[in-house]
This record gives sequence, structure tokens and C-alpha cells, in this order.
Amino acid sequence: MNKAYEILKKYFGYSSFKEGQEPIIKSILDGHDTLGIMPTGGGKSICYQIPALIFEGITLVVSPLISLMQDQVDALNTLGVSSVYINSTLTPKEMHTIYMEISNGDHKIIYVTPERFENSEFIDRIRMEKISQIAIDEAHCISQWGHDFRRSYLNVPDFIKQLPSSPIITAFTATATPKVREDIIKNLRFKPNVFISGFDRKNLKFTTVKGVNSLSYIKKYLKEHSDEGGIIYASTRKEVDSIYSELADRGYRVGKYHAGMSDNERQQNQDDFINDKLTLMVATNAFGMGIDKSNVRFVIHSNLPKDLESYYQEAGRAGRDGLDAHCILIFNPKDIQTQTFFINNNQFESSEEIMNIKREKLGSMVNYCHTSKCVRSYILEYFGDDRIENCDNCSNCLDDGEVEDITIEVQKILSCVYRTEQRFGINMIVGVLGGSKNKSILNWNLDKASTYGLLSDYSQKDIRALVDLLVGDEYLEVTKTEFPTLRLTKKAFEFIKSKENFTRKVTKIQRKTTYEWEGSFDLLRKLRADIARTEGKPPYTIFSDKTIQEMARYLPTDYEGLLDISGVGEKKYEKYGIKFLEVIKEIKGDTSPIEVKEVLKKEAKPKKASTKDSTHRISYQLFLEGKNVGEIAAERKSKFDTILSHLFKCMDEGLEVDLSRIVDSEKKKTILAAIEKVGGTLLRPIKDELPKDIEYYEIKAVLQELKVNQV
Ligand SMILES: [Zn+2]
Repeated sequence: MNKAYEILKKYFGYSSFKEGQEPIIKSILDGHDTLGIMPTGGGKSICYQIPALIFEGITLVVSPLISLMQDQVDALNTLGVSSVYINSTLTPKEMHTIYMEISNGDHKIIYVTPERFENSEFIDRIRMEKISQIAIDEAHCISQWGHDFRRSYLNVPDFIKQLPSSPIITAFTATATPKVREDIIKNLRFKPNVFISGFDRKNLKFTTVKGVNSLSYIKKYLKEHSDEGGIIYASTRKEVDSIYSELADRGYRVGKYHAGMSDNERQQNQDDFINDKLTLMVATNAFGMGIDKSNVRFVIHSNLPKDLESYYQEAGRAGRDGLDAHCILIFNPKDIQTQTFFINNNQFESSEEIMNIKREKLGSMVNYCHTSKCVRSYILEYFGDDRIENCDNCSNCLDDGEVEDITIEVQKILSCVYRTEQRFGINMIVGVLGGSKNKSILNWNLDKASTYGLLSDYSQKDIRALVDLLVGDEYLEVTKTEFPTLRLTKKAFEFIKSKENFTRKVTKIQRKTTYEWEGSFDLLRKLRADIARTEGKPPYTIFSDKTIQEMARYLPTDYEGLLDISGVGEKKYEKYGIKFLEVIKEIKGDTSPIEVKEVLKKEAKPKKASTKDSTHRISYQLFLEGKNVGEIAAERKSKFDTILSHLFKCMDEGLEVDLSRIVDSEKKKTILAAIEKVGGTLLRPIKDELPKDIEYYEIKAVLQELKVNQV
């Protein structure tokens, strides 16, 4: 190793190795085949270059990218290490000269593309030389599980077998999941010492954001971080263009980068970004290869990347200087369709096997977005590095939301998947649990299933979120078949047996936008806090935030209305109902006395079984029969607003409500124009924009429609 230190100092100018380099070099110098897995920027090339200079004879480096190998050779020659590359860009004459130089022993390191091993002239020439080491760079290219599989890499082992002496085989990659690692070892037919190092980047904070509009989120983030520079990735040129122009219009020093621009333009923008003339770069994944800008403070992904390898590589461009940096992934479920489309319509690679691998990797990427565990540990586990329990520096570890017990819900979901014989996909399972009357559910007779309607007091969206969570945390898996179905994993069966509780964190209500109901929400929450204090219990055991929020939105003033809020059962009504109704009536300025209902009748059906007839569904039924809101209110001796809120609730649950029967299309246009002008968060300013004959309820209807369409 002394020799290695000498060379490190003499040629590379360092007096110590980076983390992970030394054991790899030692293994190679001791004559072992070696596989080194270290992240981009970890200093892989020194690991084979130093032994190359110590060994007798030459080192062949197999590298997939012509541009990268040219850079490497230039860099080595500048350091005084004589090296050369052989690839398809050379003329026959140049090639001839190089072969002459090699046989004179002029070069210690020779870079070649994997395609060379299909060229008989090259093979005949190179076999004459003493080859002491063959270093496979970007070794994941030899695996179909690698993110850029190259068939020609598979010729390398045959070449090695033909050599008269057996050189040491070394392989390096930045992205080897356990599957890729096994594949590299299998395909190279060797038994290496394996070193994995340094995937954890502690200074990077990982955040996943869900259910937001990407552009608004980005604008808000930039406002709060106006003095910082960063990269915003989007998946298509069109999206890059649109984010770019939004930001340029707002006066940010922003550049863009995608394959649809001229080489000059791209190069110029890239240089300006590296030299800090531009603080922001909006780009497709074409941007970033080989860029080592140290002071990138954040990387925002505005769309879902195709796999975790790409994500970690792109996000990893933040914080190269070791200072705190932020990696944010904005997750919208529609991006899954986009990525699936890319996989199914790739004109270069159509083999079913590779498409399935890509689907599975996309699945892991999606699960990353849904997991409730530490996301950093998810990444480390994915890359086969040592895992950790909690990092305290990711959105899940830092989430200070309330803990909600969802054991029962989880049991119901697992049971539903199991009892329908694991034959159905996510949408069907969600539909069955929610008690949907969807055609395909009826066609399969699933409305007769024992688990039908078990979660009918949840909206389809909430059930979906629960199922996603179970897939993300690996209790359920989605098969990679043409029609993907849900299956229980081992972990699920263990959970069922264990009788443990299942909890999740409920993210605090975000205060970014103000809603009409927020004032009410605060008052109801205060009541809950008072009760909690008196009873000496945590507040969420009285009612969850979600329940309080729903109360604040619908403001029910009677027994039935309150029971209709999810999370309010008979027992809870009996204990707390009157107190909450009192506050709600106060909020509404309603002075009528509260009708005290006899709550627990002997034969009172549990709420779950009766939800199909719950009060909002009754209003809905009447609406479907053609009655208008006023008529329903009269018939049910209820208020106009209450009936309206029933219909809205049905829409939230995914039922169709024809709103054109409530607000006509001309008025709707006028209202939309007003919302465009003053925003859609507060009713009053919208009303002030409109002619007198437009009523509040009509505005509410339009807002509700916007809301539902946004989901
Ligand atoms: Zn964490």
C-alpha cells in the first residue's frame, strides 16, 4: 500500500484516500477479483488506475460512453499517466499507430468500448500483450437489471477466457441494487471481493410531497429560498419549457436544458449555471451527466422519475459540498401512467423481459413515494447499503403529524384481497371495500363478496391511499403481469398473526391555503383540546384531525348529520356529540335547541352496515330521482345548505352529481372568470366580483366541481 500512497501523491496530488477507496485498492493489489460499488463522485476510477500503474503490463478499461472515455484519457495524460482509447471514432491509420504504441509498451491504461470485443482485429492484437487487469467501468451495464443494459458487455467474459494469462478482473458501478450485483457477478463469471460504500449522503434531506400542484409548489418554494441555487427536473420538454417561462417571467435567473435545444444553447446554459450566472436550471434528465457543481442547494423533481437509480443520481447532484441540501420529489399519481407509457412504447427495447424489469423498478420508485417509513433507509436498502431505522432528516422522520391507529382498516383491506382470491387489481379492491356499484364489480358478482362495503364510510380516495400505503410498506404487492393484481406478502401474513397494532402518521393540516372552514376547524379543535385535558387523554383519541376537519367543512347541526362524519360512531356521539353540536350551532349562529336523540337503541345497527342508507346518500337518491335541492330540503325537513353539503359529500366519495342542475352554464362561466381573477380560496371576494343574482350556493357548487376534478 505504500506504493499506492506514493502514486496517489505523485500523480493525483492527494495525501489520503476518500472513504472506501483504500480497501478496494488493497484487494486488487493482493490479487483478488474485486467489485466496487460506490456512488457517483466517490472516486471510482482511482481504484483501478492506481493498481494499473503498479502492475506490470497494461490495464484494459471497458467503458460504455465514448465522451466519458475521452475525458478520462485527457485527464490521465494531463497527470502524466500515458493512456489511450480505442473506439469507433478512430481512423484506420490512427488505429494502426495506437497498436504500434501499445506493442512498444507506451501505454499503461487502454480504454475500450464493449463493442471492441466483437472486433477480431482488436482481439488478435490485444491478446499478444500482457494484460494484468481488466476493469469494467459502469458494470451495471452488464445486467438487465441495470438502468442502461448494453448487450455487448456480455461479450467481455468470453474474451477474458481466451486470454493466455488470467488478468485480475475488477468491476465498478455507482448503482448496484442487490439484483444488479448478483447479475454482474453471474455474467462476468467471477467471484470477487465485494465492497459497497458511502451511499448515505447525510447532508441531503429527502422530502416527498403529495397532492399539490407542481408549479405552485415550486413557485412557493423558490419564494422562500430566493437566495439559493438549484435544479428542477421535469420529465418532458414541454414541461421544462412551461416551468422555465413561468420562472423567467418572475425575474428568476433561470436557464433550461433539454434535447430539443441546439447544442450551443445547451452548452451556454450549462456553463452559465456552473459559473453561477444562472441560479436555477430547469431540465429534463438529459442534464447533469458529468456536472460537478458543488453548491447546488436543492434538486426538485416535478415529476416521478423512472426508477430509484435515476432519482438518487439526479437528486444526488445537490449538496456536493457537504453542506445541507434538500431533495424534493413531487408525487402525482398521473405520472405513473406517463412512465408506464414510456416503458410500453420504447422503440429501442421491446423485449418483454426488460419491460417487466422496468415495470418492477418503476414499482419500487412508486413505493418510495408511498412508504411511511424513513425514506433514506428505503434508498439505502434498495442499494444494498447498511440500513438505518430513522434518519431524522427526511419527510417521514420529520413528520410531526398525529399517530392514527388503522389496525382495523388494514385488516379489512388484507382480508378483502385474500377473500377475493388475490385475483383483482387495486381499483377493483378499492371499489369492493368502498361498496361501489361500478359495472365491473357487479359483473364479477363482487357485491356479494363478504368484504363488500367494509370501508364504505371512507371515500374511494382514502381507501386508495390506504392500499397504496400497504403496497409502499410491502404488505401487499402488485404482480407484474399484463393485468396487475394485488397479493399478500409474507409480511402481511406475519402481521395478521402477530395481532400488533398498525399506525400511520396523519400529516398536519397544511396552512398554505386558507379555506372557509378553517376558522371553524380551530374552534372545534379547541373544544377537543379542552375535552382531552379534562379526560387526561391525547386529543386524537377523542376525534382525529381528519374527523374535526370534516366537521368543520360540513358543520352538521343534528344527530344524523354528525353521525355521517367519518370517525363519529354512536359511542363517540354519546360521549361528545352534544358538546360538538353546541359549538357548531354557535358557529352557524343557529339558536334552535339541539334535538336530543335517544342514541343507543337496543337494536341500533352499527354504522358501517347502514352507511348505504346514510343521510347524505338518501339526499343523493332523491336528487337522482329528479328532485331539486329545494324540494329535497322540503321533503326531508332540512336546510337547503345541508342538502347541498350532502351532495358535495357524495361527490367527494366519487359519485356522479350533475351540477348543471344546480348552477346553469352561463352563470358557471361568469363564476369561473371571477375565480380566475380573485382565486378560489375565499367565497366573499368571489361573490363581490359577481352580479347580484348569483348566489353563494352557486359559487360553492362551482368550487366543489373544481375541487373534485383536481383530485
Ligand atoms: Zn428518515
